[in-house]
Amino acid sequence: MKAPGYIGRFAPSPTGALHAGSLASALASWLDARAHGGQWLVRIEDVDTPRCVPGADQTILQQLERCGLRSDAPVLWQSQRSAAYQSALEQLLAQGLAYPCGCSRKDIEAAQGHATARHQAQTYPGTCRAGLHGKPARAWRLHLPALRQALNLPERTDWHDRRLGPQSQDVAQAVGDFVLKRADGLWAYQLAVVVDDAAQGITHVVRGQDLTDNTARQILLQRALGLPTPAYLHTPLVLGANGEKLSKQNGAKPLDLSDPLAALSAAAEVLGLPAARGVGVQEALREWVGQWARLW
Ligand SMILES: [Zn+2]
Repeated sequence: MKAPGYIGRFAPSPTGALHAGSLASALASWLDARAHGGQWLVRIEDVDTPRCVPGADQTILQQLERCGLRSDAPVLWQSQRSAAYQSALEQLLAQGLAYPCGCSRKDIEAAQGHATARHQAQTYPGTCRAGLHGKPARAWRLHLPALRQALNLPERTDWHDRRLGPQSQDVAQAVGDFVLKRADGLWAYQLAVVVDDAAQGITHVVRGQDLTDNTARQILLQRALGLPTPAYLHTPLVLGANGEKLSKQNGAKPLDLSDPLAALSAAAEVLGLPAARGVGVQEALREWVGQWARLW
């Protein structure tokens, strides 16, 4: 099961320390890389600066270290990557695949009419494709109809998830021309992820199932920028007492790493691997690599 040139990654947002859910994602991506004889990289996704907690990045790296999970290359911080994101945006603008948008949230709601009353996600109706008409540019968006036409793409974006099987999304219908650079001047998550996955040569993305819904948008952006599409595997989530994804917002407890093996074992169980007992962290990781290789 050796994949020459396999490069995987774990890309946490430093909005707090790792919790049981994010440790499961970290472990899954590490195991997949090791099971393929590949490299595993850590990338700190700190583009959404207002949500980042100072020092959380270092806490996360220390937590990973305690669990025996070490990046095979220097850690990349997205906050230092603005020039790369800007040049990607300029490439899209030059090709007519992106455009400035002057709409406020209210403008978009008005153009949608009834949609927001049903608490739907805002689907951008494409108002500014034909120009700003005197409004100042607030955000930059991907021009989906221009992209479809330029590359002769089908209406739906079909892709395969190694665990969930065939997936399909009509991105124009689900979200519309999505944002690449936000009205607050910050880079959108989708653009940063796509540019960095390509820059780091990521061949396999292994991440939590809550991120599945982003994949079609990221694939369209890869096409638009002429970048390769990695293989995807979305892992089971750790659920909180309320049945929702475990997160700081719904009271995820900070990881207790006084016993790293116990924390890793809990993460392994979420991934369908047996808990390891009476062994060291390194030995447990080695056992799980073998089991992961048989599963995936
Ligand atoms: Zn607009």
